[in-house]
Amino acid sequence: MRDHKYDQDEREEARCDACGGETGESDFEDIDDEFNPDEPMCPACQAARRQRNQCCEYCDEPAEYETDSGFLCCEHHSQYVDGYVSRD
Ligand SMILES: [Zn+2]
Ligand SMILES: [Zn+2]
Repeated sequence: MRDHKYDQDEREEARCDACGGETGESDFEDIDDEFNPDEPMCPACQAARRQRNQCCEYCDEPAEYETDSGFLCCEHHSQYVDGYVSRD
């Protein structure tokens, strides 16, 4: 667990364009994503925005979920989850 106070000296703090929350480079240190200073967004909003620009791996529906198998629409995601939990 990281203590956010630890990051107070960071100079990259910014406000998320989408939700207005504070974000910055330090929020992205532990995740597989990159802070974009030109369009500052917190990790959650950036992931959501990226998904909005993606299509499902298995059909042409817009993706709503990002999984280990790639981007999935709602329907294929529920199949993916079903296959995951009900595997023999
Ligand atoms: Zn945000
Ligand atoms: Zn699909």
